[in-house]
Amino acid sequence: MAHSKALLVLENFIGGKFVPCSSYIDSYNPSTGDVYCRVPDSGKEEVEAAVKSAKAAFPIWSSKSPLERSQILNKLADLIEHDLEAFAQAESKDQGKTITFARTVDIPRAVYNFRFFASSILHHTTECTEMATMGCMHYTSRAPVGVAGLISPWNLPLYLLTWKIAPAIACGNTVVAKPSEMTSVTAWMMCKLLEKAGVPHGVVNIVFGTGTKAGEALTCHPDVPLISFTGSTLTAQRITEKSAPYCKRLSLELGGKNPAIIFDDADLTQCIPTTLRSSFANQGEICLCTSRIFVQRGIYSEFLKRFVAEAKKWKVGNPSDPTVDVGALISKEHLEKVRSYVKKAQAEGARVLCGEGVDSLALPTGNQKGYFMLPTVIAEVKDESCCMQEEIFGPVTCVVAFDTEEEVIERANSVKYGLAATVWSSNVGRVHRVAQRLQAGLVWTNCWLVRDLNLPFGGMKASGIGREGAKDSYEFFTEVKTITIKH
Ligand code: NAD
Repeated sequence: MAHSKALLVLENFIGGKFVPCSSYIDSYNPSTGDVYCRVPDSGKEEVEAAVKSAKAAFPIWSSKSPLERSQILNKLADLIEHDLEAFAQAESKDQGKTITFARTVDIPRAVYNFRFFASSILHHTTECTEMATMGCMHYTSRAPVGVAGLISPWNLPLYLLTWKIAPAIACGNTVVAKPSEMTSVTAWMMCKLLEKAGVPHGVVNIVFGTGTKAGEALTCHPDVPLISFTGSTLTAQRITEKSAPYCKRLSLELGGKNPAIIFDDADLTQCIPTTLRSSFANQGEICLCTSRIFVQRGIYSEFLKRFVAEAKKWKVGNPSDPTVDVGALISKEHLEKVRSYVKKAQAEGARVLCGEGVDSLALPTGNQKGYFMLPTVIAEVKDESCCMQEEIFGPVTCVVAFDTEEEVIERANSVKYGLAATVWSSNVGRVHRVAQRLQAGLVWTNCWLVRDLNLPFGGMKASGIGREGAKDSYEFFTEVKTITIKH
C-alpha cells in the first residue's frame, strides 16, 4: 500500500525505553480508511525481553509501600488528565469513536481507573481468627503475584487497558501488557508519561502486536503466572487452552448478548433515550450494549414507533465533528460482519425498521471510505435467529414483544452469554424478582452503565470467568496466605 503522508510509527516500551521492532503492521484510521500508523509486530523475542524486564523490576516495586505506589498512580492520573484532549483526539482517530465519547467517557475513565485503585489499595484489610482452645490465632496476608500479562481489546482501548494496569501495579505486580493491534496509539502515548509519574523502569512494559504472535507468546510464557484478558469468547477459549499447561490464574471478561426488558409500567421518557444509548453508544461496540429489547405487548407498538423515530435522529459521520453521535466501526471486516447480520435477519423474514439497507447514509467527502453504518433497528426476529443469539457488536438492536414476566425471564436467559441486562419497570417488587433470576453478572434497573468500581464487574456463562472491581481485582492480583501463630 502506498503511504502518502508521514506515518506515525509506534515502538514497544520495554524496561523504561522505547524499542523499535523488526517488523510492523499497518493500522487504519477507521473514519477515512487510510493507513496512518505502523504498529510493532512483536513476537516471542519482544515478549521475552519485556517479561525479563518486568521480572527484574518486581523485587523493588513489590517492596514499596501501598502509599508510595498510590502516590505514583495518582501522579500518572494527573499527567493523563493534563493531556486529556490529546489522548481523546488520538483515541477517536485510532478507534473511529466520536471525539465526544473519547473526551467524556474513555479518557476520563482511564484517569479515574488510576485514581480509584490508588485510593482503594490503601483501604484493604486482611482476616484474622482466634482458636482460644488451641492457643492459636490465624491471619491472612496478601502479596503480589509477580509478572501480570494483560491483554485488551479495541473497543475502549485506554479505558480497558488501564482498568487492568492500575489494579495490577497498585497491588505491587509488574506488567507486560498487549493492547489490541488495531488500537495501540493511546497506550504508546501513556508510556511517554510513566517516567515523569515516577513509575520505575520495567514496572510497566507494553508489547504491541497481534494476538496470535505477541498475545500467544505472553499467554504461553512460563514466567507470567497470571493473565487478565478482555475480548471475545473465542479468544478466551484459545487462551485457556494455551495457558493450561502452566496452570495460570485467568480473569476472562468476554462478550455479551445483553437483554433490555421493558415492562408496560416503565417510564418511557427515561427508558427510550437510555435504551438508544445502550444500543448505539460507541457504535454499539461496548460489551455491555443492549442488543435484544423485550417489550411488553401492551406498549410494544408505541415503544417501537418512538424508539425508531429517535434512532433515526442519531447523526452518523466524521467522528471529530462534535455534533456526531455515531462514528466509524473499527474495521472494514467488522463492518461487513455487522452488515451481514442485518442481511441474515431480512432473509429470515424479520423487518428492518431503520438503518442499514433501509435509509441512506450521506457522508462528508473525507469520510466516504470510512467504515460507517446507520443505527439499525430490527423487529419480528425469532429468538433462535443468529441476530438474537450471537454477539453482533455493532449499531444493531432487535426489538421483540413478550407477554408475561415468567416468559421474558426464560427468553432473556436463553442465550449462551450472561454479561449484563437492564430491566425497566416502576414496580419495585418486580425489578427485584426479575433481577434475581436473570443470568447476568450485572443487572441495571431503570438505568444503564451506572458503575461503582467498588463492586464486582464480570459475566456469567460464556461472558467470562472471574470478577474485577476494588476487592475482586485486589484478590485476583494478589496471592493469599494463611498464617497460624501458636502462643
Ligand atoms: P479479540 O478477542 O479478538 O481480541 C482481544 C485481544 O486479544 C486483542 O489484544 C487481541 O490481539 C488478543 N488476542 C487475539 N487472539 C489471541 C490469542 N490467540 N492469544 C492471546 N491474545 C489474543 O476481541 P476484540 O475483537 O478485540 O474485542 C471485542 C470483544 O471483546 C467482544 O466480544 C466484546 O464483547 C469483548 N469485550 C468484553 C468486555 C468485558 O468487559 N466483558 C469489554 C470489552 C470488550
